[in-house]
Amino acid sequence: MAVAAATIRLRTRRGYDAHDITAEVQAAVADSGLVRGIVTVFVPGATGAVTTVEFEPGLMEDLEALFERLAPEGAPYHHDARWHDGNGHAHVRASLLGPSLTVPFEGGRLELGTWQQIVFLDFDPPARERELRVKILGE
Ligand code: ZN
Repeated sequence: MAVAAATIRLRTRRGYDAHDITAEVQAAVADSGLVRGIVTVFVPGATGAVTTVEFEPGLMEDLEALFERLAPEGAPYHHDARWHDGNGHAHVRASLLGPSLTVPFEGGRLELGTWQQIVFLDFDPPARERELRVKILGE
């Protein structure tokens, strides 16, 4: 078994942001030269998350609306009262999804469903740079 690594760099916009990173993850697997195994994508940071969803505009709006219902921006959060950084909603949203996703691959191809994309969600209010860690284990 071998291990390969890659980094996916993203620039996020202010407020809620979503990026389809399927092509970048597939490219990392292809570059590794590994044929079968698993790939993990991880965001270092407590206000981002990685999940799968069909990346189409309607569903992306639905998802954003869901997070606004579950953990509205501007609602009172103990985190904001304590730290005054105004991102309590971002932390709560991120912890619901988690910071990583593992996808199997075979024949050098991600074994995703046809309408299943790998999506990075950024909940932190300011625009920022993100560096997602990709680790590939396989043969
Ligand atoms: Zn915070």
